[in-house]
Amino acid sequence: MPPGAMGWVLPHFEAVTSLQIAVFAVAGLVIGSFLNVVIYRLPRMILAHELPDLPNQAPAFNLNTPSSHCPHCQYRLAWFELVPVLSYLGALGHCRHCQHRIAWRYPFVELLTSVLFSLCLFKFGLGLPAVLACFFSAILLALAWTDAETFLLPDALTQALLWVGLVASAMSLSLTPLVESLAGAVFGYGILWVVSWLFQALTGKEGMGQGDLKLLAGLGAWVGIWSLLPLILLASVSGLIFGVIQKMRGQLGDNGHFAFGPFLAISGFACFFLGISMGV
Ligand SMILES: [Zn+2]
Repeated sequence: MPPGAMGWVLPHFEAVTSLQIAVFAVAGLVIGSFLNVVIYRLPRMILAHELPDLPNQAPAFNLNTPSSHCPHCQYRLAWFELVPVLSYLGALGHCRHCQHRIAWRYPFVELLTSVLFSLCLFKFGLGLPAVLACFFSAILLALAWTDAETFLLPDALTQALLWVGLVASAMSLSLTPLVESLAGAVFGYGILWVVSWLFQALTGKEGMGQGDLKLLAGLGAWVGIWSLLPLILLASVSGLIFGVIQKMRGQLGDNGHFAFGPFLAISGFACFFLGISMGV
């Protein structure tokens, strides 16, 4: 592999076979399809559990049942309507029964997961580390999208991120040694806890959700303690720019809140993938 940016970021880019790329890309489409289910159902399951008396609750469901249906007309989808991306294109982005538009999120998440899985293969080559990196990418995508849509970062996802990250380090299947991974998780949670405590003490308002703390703990387990500071800086600066732009466009809610999870997730992915750290 010749030296250069591609060789540094994606060292296995030329070594992997077309078949391996195809397998990872298709697996990405299928898992992406499942992530769409998670993104749609998990927050509704949490809200139904925590606020059972709320009117207009979605019908009771879990990640398995009922089978996939149009959220508008409840029509149950046939197998050929569940093929990632192709079904969306085939139906021209509309439900075949009520003609209601299908959210562009569905094909987009499927395609994005497919691209992320392929990148993991190019980065790590065929093996368990690549599969774990796929898991990392998929969980982050689900968390970022769920937070952006609902302001929720489900424990089920942040805890899976944390524990799989620690186990991967313990088994030397990740680029981060276990000690740095553990320290990353502890300090990730601790730093944001201090920041949110200070913010609350100074302004009397709650600045950050518990989910953000747990997400940074999970990310810390993957990227290690030496990447935490660059990660937080990246997330804060990009989040701040986004917040200012939204405020200028008058699209920030009354309380001025916006989801911080997507910025943590994207910055965490960048640090993990590009190896951004303080170089200690
Ligand atoms: Zn429909």
